[in-house]
Amino acid sequence: MIPPIASRFVAGETAAEALEHVESLNDRNVSAILNLLGEHYHERAPADADAETYRTLVSDITDANVDACLSVKPSQIGLGVGPDVFEENLGRIVEAAAAEDVFVWVDMEDHGTTDATLDAYERYAREYDGGVGVCVQANLRRTGEDLARLADVPGKVRLVKGAYDEPGEVAYRNKADVNERYRQHLEFLFREFDSGVAVGSHDPAMIEYARELHAEHGTPFEFQMLMGVREDAQFDLAGEYDVYQYVPYGGKWFQYFSRRMTERRENLLFGLRAILGR
Ligand code: FAD
Repeated sequence: MIPPIASRFVAGETAAEALEHVESLNDRNVSAILNLLGEHYHERAPADADAETYRTLVSDITDANVDACLSVKPSQIGLGVGPDVFEENLGRIVEAAAAEDVFVWVDMEDHGTTDATLDAYERYAREYDGGVGVCVQANLRRTGEDLARLADVPGKVRLVKGAYDEPGEVAYRNKADVNERYRQHLEFLFREFDSGVAVGSHDPAMIEYARELHAEHGTPFEFQMLMGVREDAQFDLAGEYDVYQYVPYGGKWFQYFSRRMTERRENLLFGLRAILGR
């Protein structure tokens, strides 16, 4: 069982628990992006098993009649075994999801995975005419070129600042530089991406900028934020815009929870308060 301290960021160990959380979000006009926790597999068996669990999750979403889509990590479904295994498993997930009209996001991992991730995304976004989306990271120097390539692909793009500690040759490491790139890419997305933009950020400045760009260009878009982070803002924005909460669940919650705890001082204080019972 997930300890109460982690349950702010992780919806449970089972799909049933996660779907219960999704229902409570839907009641407040927030949609969900379900992520089965798991990454960095180097053998085929766990990658195939998680791909199969995602296919079952599609049926669970349909049976529960909730407003939810999926987000999968390439290294969870086989990229560490080989790009062909990843592509095959992603294809199986997208096939099942498309049959039930469930959208599939592909998360972006470290820079060594970017080419294979974009290639697989482009293949299935074209094959399934837009039922797939991909995440791109503002901290990577290559992202401007990647967005130019993706502009005529019929899927959605989620822009984030980037969660991986990348070397200076491939990434901007200074926060101000990343923020500047985020704004530039956001402007490009709202100008060029008719098929849909996702603003994956909790940053009030970026959220405000997205609202301005939407008012100017009218491009369809959604806000995406993580479970347990600025939830008040999520519920406030949901009165006016499409808002999705990224909802992780599953037995492998500890690593994800540790990341959330260490990335911000206030999360750590929240954790300590929970441990100390205050
Ligand atoms: P930051 O630059 O971290 O913070 C800016 C401001 O936002 C802060 O000053 C504060 O005002 C507010 N804020 C941020 N966090 C908090 C908090 N915990 N509590 C209160 N206020 C806060 N990264 C990847 O590399 N690949 C992915 O596939 C990926 N998918 C993601 C999907 C979603 C839906 C989201 C929301 C993020 C994803 N990320 C991904 C993570 C992303 O790259 C960032 O690491 C993360 O979102 C933090 O950046 P930020 O834009 O929220 O703002």
